[in-house]
Amino acid sequence: MTMPPKICYTAAGILINDDKVLLVKHKKLGIWLNPGGHIEPNELPHLAAEREFFEETGVKVRAKYSHNFPHTEVDEFVPTPMLCNLHWVSRRNYEQRVQFPQTYVPEKTWSRGCEQHLNFMYLLEPVAEVNIQLNTSESDDIAWYNQQDIQDLQTLDNIRIEITTAFEYAKNITD
Ligand SMILES: [Zn+2]
Repeated sequence: MTMPPKICYTAAGILINDDKVLLVKHKKLGIWLNPGGHIEPNELPHLAAEREFFEETGVKVRAKYSHNFPHTEVDEFVPTPMLCNLHWVSRRNYEQRVQFPQTYVPEKTWSRGCEQHLNFMYLLEPVAEVNIQLNTSESDDIAWYNQQDIQDLQTLDNIRIEITTAFEYAKNITD
């Protein structure tokens, strides 16, 4: 029987303003990413995306709604993610945990024991004036990029595809 990997729930946000997306250069990974992080216990995913975005950029945002269902006495509708993806963060943590359960220690980069991340990604909009601020404890740099810049950006191919898709998605969403 194969043991399933540990899955963390994470949330991330994409802010596109004046046809440019705001990205940060991740300290641990050395690549450009849209801001995001772990969802805290009892935290709604879209609120985690808003919180992480503010912590990493200094910009106050809210997640955009892609559907507007009427609220009822029993249902509270929350913003729908633009996409959800499941990806490996540390195969090493998984393999070590499965093979050597007695002596397993997570690798330094992923000391929380992360193995896979189920990521909820939201399209965001600013709620106040946009003044970006680099959070040096999490990122090495912060910058705006247009859709063409994304092709040559130092990042992962799946991130490139997701950000490019977000530009298209942002053109089609109205609320
Ligand atoms: Zn994790």
